[in-house]
Amino acid sequence: MLVAAGVFFAMWRLAGQAPPPEQVVVDAVVEVATPVADSVVIDLPTAVPDGFPISDLPVLQDSSLVPAFNPHTYQGNRPNHTFQTYVVVRGDTPNKIAERFGISPETLLGGNPKLSEESNLLQTDAELIILPINGVLHDVAPGDTLESISLRYGIPVEDIIAYGPNNLEFPYRLYPETQILVPGAVRDVFVWTPPSLDTVRSSSGGIAPLIVGTGTFIFPVGSRNFTQFYWYGHRGVDIGLTEGTGVAASDTGTVTFAGWNIYGYGNLIVVNHGNGFETLYAHLSGINVGPGQIVYQGNIIGASGNTGNSSGPHLHFEIRINGNPDDPCWYLGC
Ligand SMILES: [Zn+2]
Repeated sequence: MLVAAGVFFAMWRLAGQAPPPEQVVVDAVVEVATPVADSVVIDLPTAVPDGFPISDLPVLQDSSLVPAFNPHTYQGNRPNHTFQTYVVVRGDTPNKIAERFGISPETLLGGNPKLSEESNLLQTDAELIILPINGVLHDVAPGDTLESISLRYGIPVEDIIAYGPNNLEFPYRLYPETQILVPGAVRDVFVWTPPSLDTVRSSSGGIAPLIVGTGTFIFPVGSRNFTQFYWYGHRGVDIGLTEGTGVAASDTGTVTFAGWNIYGYGNLIVVNHGNGFETLYAHLSGINVGPGQIVYQGNIIGASGNTGNSSGPHLHFEIRINGNPDDPCWYLGC
């Protein structure tokens, strides 16, 4: 606008026409749904003497022709999702359901975050959201932007915009309490890291003898009443048990953690087997061992319970190799 006004002014001068009127009223031309100021009044000099340098003309503070939106009142579109749902039947597992709908187990978690909670999951009659493509259904929180969501999941902004039902048009306003599907994203599952063997050796004083496990594993309990198997959203097996059932060390090793775990495991024992393997025993009602203590395969180290994030008495049992959770059924045969 500044340039245009300057050009017009110069043209007036060249054509020898009368000087511009005292005030020029410029109508706002803004293509947004919300009203902005109807007009902007610009002061120009009443008369311009000969030789008046154009560079001395007043700077026009006029943005009324800029096609900008008002971020505080702009009304965009809300997402327009339609999701298939599925009602869990007896015997379902996350992997089976994902396979049936041609999505990944990660995507089952992407649409149903509660599936990662520790419990007797996939209860019959629970209704699951089946996302149409692999990805994560993100709950928009206050302060979220497309950029922050893009960063969080490592998915380009363009991919999020390109997914039609997200209904995103420039300027891409997000609404709290709506949901954006982030194509290709995977919902993070937090994996807690137990203390290392060296940490426990030094804190327990002296040099503890190095105990190495047999490399074979036994079931920590007699029951085979599995209530949940290993999958992306659950990095162990759950075995339903009467509270107070003895829990045995699955292999020989050194206890690296014995106590309350704040990340949902409740009362937890971790045994490091000195060969890259660790075993975890969670939701216990009782603990018979302490950090630094050596235990042998089959020793009773605690009692099963229902502590921490648990919806019924059961043992949550994990096997980790070099810090990474693995499926205990590979080692034990379930
Ligand atoms: Zn579990």
